Amino acid sequence: IDLGTTNSLVAVCDDRGPRILSGDAGPMLPSVVRYSADGATVEAVGDAARASAAMHPERTVASVKRLMGRALRDAEADRKYLSYELVSGEHDTARLKVGARIITPQEVSAVVLRTLKDRAEQALGVPVRRAVVTVPAYFDDAQRQATRDAARLAGLDVLRIINEPTAAALAYGVGLRAGKPQTIAVYDLGGGTFDVSILRVTPAEKAGETGYFEVVATAGDTHLGGDDIDQAIIALLMDEVRAKHGLALTFSGRVLQTLRDLAERAKVRLSAEDAAAIRVDLGEGRTVDRTITRAELEALMSPWIERTIDRCRQALRDAKMAPGDIDTVALVGGSTRIPLVRRRVGEFFGAAPYTALDPDQVVALGASVQGAVLAGTSRAALLFDVI
Ligand code: AMP
Repeated sequence: IDLGTTNSLVAVCDDRGPRILSGDAGPMLPSVVRYSADGATVEAVGDAARASAAMHPERTVASVKRLMGRALRDAEADRKYLSYELVSGEHDTARLKVGARIITPQEVSAVVLRTLKDRAEQALGVPVRRAVVTVPAYFDDAQRQATRDAARLAGLDVLRIINEPTAAALAYGVGLRAGKPQTIAVYDLGGGTFDVSILRVTPAEKAGETGYFEVVATAGDTHLGGDDIDQAIIALLMDEVRAKHGLALTFSGRVLQTLRDLAERAKVRLSAEDAAAIRVDLGEGRTVDRTITRAELEALMSPWIERTIDRCRQALRDAKMAPGDIDTVALVGGSTRIPLVRRRVGEFFGAAPYTALDPDQVVALGASVQGAVLAGTSRAALLFDVI
């Protein structure tokens, strides 16, 4: 299971190899839970909860991963990104308040995990009791423990917690076949967060021995991702609207939501096409038409991408390495579909990044590979994840 900040996925690995188990709405389950007004019951999980988030911000819980195992005072910087109320629990742990109810982040994550457990049971036709769950490499012991507790609440026994970059490397089978130690950079750019990890993979030298993955360095930005690119496009569209229909125009919640959808759709289209035509409909016959070219979008998002490259530099410095020391680069996260991201990452590390697997699915696929190894169904070398 890839228990993500924005989306979560479940995969299984058997003699047919690793594969994602999809739900009705596709492979990704938005990590969003809507509670009833009094907080007593769960009303919606996943796509349904995300779709109505703007209508019920105070009882729709998203991004709860940011709170897992954290003290309220450490979560202070995240507060302005969260729409629901936070309160302090035992030992100043971060809790949420919905209606009259105080809810732990573990309980919310358990709802997401339970949904994935049900999905897996439906797909496989057998009860599912054990799982491998991934966490960011920088998660500390309290955050890892909170993840285990969430799984237990969902009726899952966690066989092992593994690092997300390690899972990505496992999905690609990096290091398992090389026969000699390898250094891997995992570049993970999602919707709201960026992480880069430098991994050292030491394969087992002969049968019966144990190889291991070691995270040598990590760097990142907990508030940098595709959402920032969407915001830059929204700002551009707002300027156009104001230029055509007057500076005094204010934007209602509905129009803002529309702009957000238009911006994200245009961005995704520009990963495959050279231009995207956008029509903003403000109602009462007022429209604005704007075509954005890929070159224009690249100029707009270049500062954000350079910030990720700066973090890559930092990770290499911490690992006391140069870009040329990296044998392999693996891409994770939906925003790595952007051609400019692939180009810049390739240029920086001097190696074409691995892109064969779906960047949204690679972490869950890798978790399932580790699951198969632990269950004995895979003969891949046993690997330890050093934290
Ligand atoms: P993740 O957090 O890994 O699920 O990534 C989600 C982010 O990836 C969102 O900001 C999406 O808009 C973005 N994304 C998904 N597909 C594409 C694409 N083809 N081109 C650009 N961005 C994309």
